[in-house]
Amino acid sequence: MNFCSNCGQPMTHRTPPGDDRSRFYCESCGVVHYQNPKLVVGCIPETEDQILLCRRAIEPGYGKWTLPAGYLENGESVAAGAKRETLEEARARVEILAPYALYNICHADQIYLMFRARLKGNSFQAGRESLEVKLFSENDIPWGEIAFRVIEATLLQYFDDRRAGRYSFFMGSIPKP
Ligand SMILES: [Zn+2]
Repeated sequence: MNFCSNCGQPMTHRTPPGDDRSRFYCESCGVVHYQNPKLVVGCIPETEDQILLCRRAIEPGYGKWTLPAGYLENGESVAAGAKRETLEEARARVEILAPYALYNICHADQIYLMFRARLKGNSFQAGRESLEVKLFSENDIPWGEIAFRVIEATLLQYFDDRRAGRYSFFMGSIPKP
């Protein structure tokens, strides 16, 4: 950030008066431009014993498989965001069942919140950001081709829980590579 979006003057990055860390701070008008982690919301769409995965048509992770997920929009609830991302990426409608996993990704300033969801109507197809959308049984999950560590962690947790016959909310962290 080079210029203040409030007054247009050049920005500094230093500790504002009374604060305890360095921020984008405008010395002309005194506005502090806070930067905070972004929330990514998504879901595990289930139907009977299969789940829906999307193969990414965009970087990062082009050509690899992921669960439908993306940045929450302003004014949107987390469940609505997860449903919207599923509709955009997999052209699929889901019923949100329960919040399932929260991952802190502190080095990337992201938090992932993943829901369990039920696929409605078994209709799906590749959305704009997907090359392909497909149902997978546990035995067919392309483990070597999962786009993100957080998605791999979510899937591992999910299948562990499914084998144990109970799902409980999980909170974890993805360490810096
Ligand atoms: Zn300013």
